[in-house]
Amino acid sequence: MRLKNVKGAREAVEGSPLVVKEPESAKGKWDAVFGNGNPIRIEIGMGKGKFLHELALRNQEVNYIGIEKYSSVLIRALQRMEEAPLSNLLFIRMDAEEIGEVFGEEEIDRIYLNFSDPWPKERHGKRRLPSREFLGRYQGFLKKDGVLEFKTDNRELFDFALGELSPAGWEAVKVTRDLHRDSEMAEGNIMTEYEEKFSSKGNPIYKYIIKRKQIL
Ligand code: SAM
Repeated sequence: MRLKNVKGAREAVEGSPLVVKEPESAKGKWDAVFGNGNPIRIEIGMGKGKFLHELALRNQEVNYIGIEKYSSVLIRALQRMEEAPLSNLLFIRMDAEEIGEVFGEEEIDRIYLNFSDPWPKERHGKRRLPSREFLGRYQGFLKKDGVLEFKTDNRELFDFALGELSPAGWEAVKVTRDLHRDSEMAEGNIMTEYEEKFSSKGNPIYKYIIKRKQIL
């Protein structure tokens, strides 16, 4: 993603009560942060937050956390919350490499990855959010019956992500290579900013829903 420097973004993000500071200290205690025991779902690499805001609006009995590396992008999600506040949506500004430090065992109900950066160079494969390295991190905090949903328009990244499942001990629940023409998987679909941009150019959208293989 090409990033524009947004003046004052860092200060606004640091000063916002909607952005959880020192999220490591909330590990295992996210129920207390939200003040209820509702399920918690996260989007990693949230961008400007359109998808998660709409999802949180539709499902007010679920808590959501948007994780984004850059203040200049996260600030857009904060602005959206000013226009339409929600009590079930919070944010963390961090690099997801450290995500294992932030959530405790079985604390998260569902993970969303939308249009994750492809990192096309092979030597950067470990930075891809659906890589086996990241799946290993997610396993540390996703509920045993929890799922991960991933959408992208990047065929190479999608094929790579599918190939990572078995070595990481995960399996596909549902897969489509044309989400918008798959009536079952498209039901209730919320478009992300990138999804709107790339599907309007005619690109098919790939999606999988995966879960951990159950060890009997
Ligand atoms: N999910 C949004 C969408 O579909 O419109 C944004 C997609 S954009 C291509 C990828 C986003 O993920 C960027 O905002 C980027 O800063 C963020 N990102 C990439 N790697 C990340 C990481 N390791 N930790 C946190 N955020 C990350």
